[in-house]
Amino acid sequence: MDKARAQNYNPNRVCLKCGKRVDEATALDDEAVLYAGDVSICIYCGDVAMYDDDLLLRPCLPDELAGIMADPHARRVIEEARRFIEEYHKMDAVTELWRKITCN
Ligand SMILES: [Zn+2]
Repeated sequence: MDKARAQNYNPNRVCLKCGKRVDEATALDDEAVLYAGDVSICIYCGDVAMYDDDLLLRPCLPDELAGIMADPHARRVIEEARRFIEEYHKMDAVTELWRKITCN
């Protein structure tokens, strides 16, 4: 595990919406190290949250979320991530259906 991944790793971090463990993080730009106040998009459900001082996730306050979504770049990234996650889940559902059909 490289230094940035080790710094970002936290086995106790869970998504506040879906409850899945989000123990690692990947940045969309060159800066891959997490800081308190950074925004998180859950790769499992697309929930937007914020890292607290312990780099655990906390809900965005309404004005924080409004500020994030008012930024055209941030809004575009969040919307694209959510579309990707939705498509991924559709493919996962198709794969599961195919497995059920072909294994019976
Ligand atoms: Zn989630």
